[in-house]
Amino acid sequence: MRAIFSTWVLCSAVALESLVGCGPATSSQSQTTPNEDNATFDQLSCAYSPSVGSSALDANLQQSDIQPAHFGKLYNRAWLSGALPASLNEVLRYIPEAGVKLFTADRVSPKSCDNLGSVAKFPSEISSYWTMANQGIGDSAGKGSTLAGLYIPQGTDLNDGSFLKDGPMIVVREDVDRWTVVHEFIHHLFYVEASKSGWDSTAAHDQYQKTVDSAQSLDPSSVHTEADAQNISAQLQTFTTQLQQMTLHYAMEEVAVESLLRDAYEKGNFPNVSELSYENAGWYIQQNAKNALQSFAELRDFIGQFKDVMTQVAPDVESSLEAFVDQTLSANESEIKAIQASIPSSDDSNDTVKPNRKIVGEQIHCEHEQDMEQILKQLHNLNALRAKKVIRS
Ligand SMILES: [Zn+2]
Repeated sequence: MRAIFSTWVLCSAVALESLVGCGPATSSQSQTTPNEDNATFDQLSCAYSPSVGSSALDANLQQSDIQPAHFGKLYNRAWLSGALPASLNEVLRYIPEAGVKLFTADRVSPKSCDNLGSVAKFPSEISSYWTMANQGIGDSAGKGSTLAGLYIPQGTDLNDGSFLKDGPMIVVREDVDRWTVVHEFIHHLFYVEASKSGWDSTAAHDQYQKTVDSAQSLDPSSVHTEADAQNISAQLQTFTTQLQQMTLHYAMEEVAVESLLRDAYEKGNFPNVSELSYENAGWYIQQNAKNALQSFAELRDFIGQFKDVMTQVAPDVESSLEAFVDQTLSANESEIKAIQASIPSSDDSNDTVKPNRKIVGEQIHCEHEQDMEQILKQLHNLNALRAKKVIRS
């Protein structure tokens, strides 16, 4: 998992059976047979011909209209608007015009539609990377899940000793629909703006990993003086800042991407895509929102273990740490909860409105979900380790 965790893949996954896709791993079995799963995917894949839709708006690529999406994530709205109304064929022409190489991988289903048949297969330089990403999906997201697409930023470690040169790349399977392709393109738009602010995924991963490693040795029983408390507080603040950034670029980015597409769909600005994609996006947003909140809750639990001793030794340091954590996480937590509340659950939906339906065999859009799962697992282990130490002491 080290190789996976050290890279930055933005991906879509297709779950064909016992659907967990990019959601939390589960061992529960799907009640739907594999054939029915494929039929649902086939229906989505074949809902619209690649030629249905208007031309892409190439003139938009000359414009800069930087707007905030959820969580203040910036993107160039002009570039997205140039793609939204366009036919799939036009989107496939437009994305390379925007500076992103586009390639395909083998189809998901033999009965689905070869929507991207005109696009070249991915080059051999990313073979091991693609294989690894597929293994990651299968391993962490459950049997029957299939990777549908990836966005790979320039400079990404390709896990074979080389790094992606000559610009970013999107790889999608030949039979995905336009929702998946535009989803990956939005990751590119977010990445471009984040890079301008200094976001470097490889460096961020490395720094975060070091912080998690050193957090394992933090111990409440070692806090005796105000200086001890200040030292612990500084480390916990760094941990908080870095975890917020990781979550912002994983689970919360998935929420932001799918929310942009759902909003565009609802306003009629993203026509000629299957309603199945829209419905599934609601479910997928809920999954990622839950993961994001869980990561923050685990961190708060971890920090909470230091509260009593710090309050005794240095109450001012404790209260300023608490304020810092709230300041860093609370706005995100509130926004995530508001998004969750805005999407009715499948239980609330009637027969005609199913805005949050887990569609077996449908595309599950995923920003390297195994990375988010890894983050959650590490946090959980950290808390479990601390609990054991407390019991022993
Ligand atoms: Zn994604």
